[in-house]
Amino acid sequence: MSMSTALIPTICSFIERSWLPRTCLLCGAGSRYALCEPCLAELPEQVPAEEALAGAMPIAGGPSQGGPCAAPPERSEREREESARARPAAQSVTAHTLWRYAEPADRVVIGFKYGGDAGVARLWAARVAGGLPAVDALIPMPMHAQRLADRGQNPAEVMASALARHLPGRPPLLRATKTRMTARQQGLDRKGRLANVAGAYRIDQHLHGMRVLLVDDVLTTGASLSAVAEAAFDAGADEVSAVAMARAVP
Ligand SMILES: [Zn+2]
Repeated sequence: MSMSTALIPTICSFIERSWLPRTCLLCGAGSRYALCEPCLAELPEQVPAEEALAGAMPIAGGPSQGGPCAAPPERSEREREESARARPAAQSVTAHTLWRYAEPADRVVIGFKYGGDAGVARLWAARVAGGLPAVDALIPMPMHAQRLADRGQNPAEVMASALARHLPGRPPLLRATKTRMTARQQGLDRKGRLANVAGAYRIDQHLHGMRVLLVDDVLTTGASLSAVAEAAFDAGADEVSAVAMARAVP
């Protein structure tokens, strides 16, 4: 197959998604966007739209040891625990969410995550951007390479790309790495979730002096976000906040 032939399905799919009339994800009515205006207006909003995340460990701000040129430290599990205990008063991570993960917003989020409709991410980004703090970079919640290969795309990365367009200075996307496969969080209680993801993420870039925004699809207990926030502080971030599409309230 020639290169040009290989590109045709991609181009067709792009044109289809961008230009052709489409239908609302929820009601099937003709709509210019992923959701029609009436359905969009009916999505349950999350009130309050922001909350402090209680971290897996006491999450504290401030750059880690070493100057701006020092490599991010390689640390063992025990060293990280000791460092977390040695930190000053916990600095919380504020998480922002737009919708409550309830009917019919749950169907919208699932349609986005498994159907891959980036139009949902664009609608969400346009609405949530105004309430966010100024940031220097976005970090989508990473998926393990194996899961990413199965899924084809990381929903959080699609969201972060859409969101960056609406933020001042169009902050870059940086990458966190999921260092090991973790069990699915569904079905675990908060303690189990925290233990499941502790130390499962790594950020290899320097974040000294940076304000970073973590991006995730659904916020449940915040255990995974807290674990990535911990990695961001370890990499030197000054401030860490988070944003999600929807908040699942147990
Ligand atoms: Zn509709």
